[in-house]
Amino acid sequence: MTIDAVAQKVGSGERISAGEALVLYRSAPTPLLGRLADAVRARKHPDGIVTYIIDRNVNYTNVCVARCRFCAFYRPVGSSEGYVLAFDELFRKIEETIALGGIQLLLQGGHNPDLPLEWYEDLFRAVKARYPDVKLHALSPPEILHLSRLSQLPVPAVIERLIGAGLDSIPGGGAEILVDRVRKLLHCYSKASAEEWLDVMRHAHRAGLRTTATMMYGTVETDEERIEHLMRLRELQDETGGFTAFIAWSYQPDHTELAGVEATALEYLRTLALSRIVLDNFDNLQASWVTQGGKVGQLSLAYGANDMGSVMIEENVVRAAGAAYCMDEVEIVRNIEDAGFVPKRRDMHYNVLGDPFFRAREVPRMLELATARADGEAGMPDELLKYPARSRPGKQLRVIAS
Ligand code: SF4
Repeated sequence: MTIDAVAQKVGSGERISAGEALVLYRSAPTPLLGRLADAVRARKHPDGIVTYIIDRNVNYTNVCVARCRFCAFYRPVGSSEGYVLAFDELFRKIEETIALGGIQLLLQGGHNPDLPLEWYEDLFRAVKARYPDVKLHALSPPEILHLSRLSQLPVPAVIERLIGAGLDSIPGGGAEILVDRVRKLLHCYSKASAEEWLDVMRHAHRAGLRTTATMMYGTVETDEERIEHLMRLRELQDETGGFTAFIAWSYQPDHTELAGVEATALEYLRTLALSRIVLDNFDNLQASWVTQGGKVGQLSLAYGANDMGSVMIEENVVRAAGAAYCMDEVEIVRNIEDAGFVPKRRDMHYNVLGDPFFRAREVPRMLELATARADGEAGMPDELLKYPARSRPGKQLRVIAS
């Protein structure tokens, strides 16, 4: 199969195979890959609109038993640097988010054995009672699996309880590369195998939730395994249609056990373009400006992306591994318009909500992303003591407190 033959298939809207994707990924010139991906984007989004969402990416705890080798964010159970956010801290973050035009909380965290399912239910109910219009885009598939194991309830039952408490949608984190050889090498197979990750999403879609899908590339995987990842997502999307969007980002190596070097911006653009071509049943592809910076984020709009992701407001995980890009709504809109597109605010379901918020209301400029806690501030809130602990340090803490 030649590059020209595959390019022709893509141009005429035909689905390509894994082998054909590999030909493009390995051998097609980058401008051609970009043109093909841009044509697919234009077919799906002929209106020239590029969307973004105003939300806040909050990591409720950094305590984690999974210990993935690519992660610089987690702290082991009992670490003096471990934290769990208090409900009040989360409420304050939500209020700051609403003031900036935010409509959603993206809530993800470590696999903390001292946070039982009831803690999440209480938190979600408390958020919904105070801020009924705020959406909860929360808990990636490995976190849901962790809760299933902790509560000894099947995944569908956990999802049902979380929906009952206020869960609106699920972020696609923790997918890394959906190939078990890679997951074992990265030490993330036990948190979720490829099939387990996909199965949580399958259950979520069946329960009526929409979710996103992600890929973190650039660790130990081969080109074939990147393509296998995309194929597995495409298959599940054929089956359920539940994914709203796909987001790819490059592994950030600083301060991780795995270490290594980050993939280049060129590799990012090629991977994004290939994803747009292969994932023909995904409507939306986000630009990962948080790992690539604003300029490459803007270039992404010519390589298949139709969405600038989230204004974010706060970020902890990628920053811990060395990336510290920040763009507020003004910057995101400027990048979209300079690339020749029309910026629109959206919700998680990609419904357009309107024009840029800052053009209608005075909002403070945001020149730096916030963090979960100020540097060096750790610790657990007192309210945690009312939930049973599973870890030894957690149990000891409760004995001392009583
Ligand atoms: S990536 Fe997530 S699950 Fe893995 S160690 Fe970090 S916080 Fe834990």
